[in-house]
Amino acid sequence: MTIKVKCPEKGPGWYYRLSRFFREHFGGPVYKIPLDAGFSCPNRDGTIGRGGCSYCYNPSFSPHSGAPGRIPLEEQLRRGKRKGKGARYLAYFQSYTNTYAPLEELKTLYDRALAEPDVIGLSVATRPDCVPDAVLHLLENYARKHHLWIEYGLQSAHDLTLERINRGHRFRHFADAVQRTRGRGIYICAHVILGLPGESREMMLQTMEALNICGVDGVKFHHLQVIEHTPLAAQYRCGSLAVFKTAADYIALLCDCLERLSPGIVIHRLAAQVSAPGLLIAPIWPESAGQIAAAVERELKRRGTCQGHAVKDKHACFD
Ligand code: SF4
Repeated sequence: MTIKVKCPEKGPGWYYRLSRFFREHFGGPVYKIPLDAGFSCPNRDGTIGRGGCSYCYNPSFSPHSGAPGRIPLEEQLRRGKRKGKGARYLAYFQSYTNTYAPLEELKTLYDRALAEPDVIGLSVATRPDCVPDAVLHLLENYARKHHLWIEYGLQSAHDLTLERINRGHRFRHFADAVQRTRGRGIYICAHVILGLPGESREMMLQTMEALNICGVDGVKFHHLQVIEHTPLAAQYRCGSLAVFKTAADYIALLCDCLERLSPGIVIHRLAAQVSAPGLLIAPIWPESAGQIAAAVERELKRRGTCQGHAVKDKHACFD
């Protein structure tokens, strides 16, 4: 059975933008300041795995990555405040695994960020297998006074794919983390990569259904990018990896995914972004993030659909 959703008639409503969510909650914009707080990652240091996820090279997307010792958190926040007087910010703990430290250390870092003027909350990116209940309890306490998102790297709901990209966890770890996070006043965002090796369109649509079922509050979409210094770069160079050829190919698939995603889920981002373009091997598109967003709206409008237009209520079948 398919649930039909009444689609909005005006462009800004074709999908649920993060900017609209902030307007609804705070009456105006809120900006995220990406931070590198000096964390490491259990999928790199041998605790869970070595070598990291096959697509990951943090300096490609994190402006401060590699220099945490030289740039204190407070300075990173100050540099990130590029908007005018009265602007509000979330401290976005972005690089590596931002709950991978003793509780006291986490508390010190989160407190330092929240002590900065105009910082109204936190967004904490982490692995779904790196949030023991004690960490969730700590975040729950912050959520009582501050706006709080946790961003779980999922990438795909298919264990075969997770294994292929060396994520070091399974889908059930994500489902468990979401279930233990819900009800604590913490907003939950899932990161998904479209175009991962071996994934069909149908598999990516199943990931959307899995996110609906888990009950996440937000999704951040990335298209698969091949970055220097990653295992994917070697696969790409020897011809065993394909990427989206054009932005148009990606946009068509992204719209299919948005149609399958519950309309109440906030879209944090539509495509991957690199902050160090010299590290991007493929795909290299002329379109900016803004042009991709406009093209997504045009495509949904052309189809006469919107986010959630074709949400299915049956449970997907996973690996
Ligand atoms: S994507 Fe995240 S979990 Fe994977 S290697 Fe990079 S920092 Fe670690």
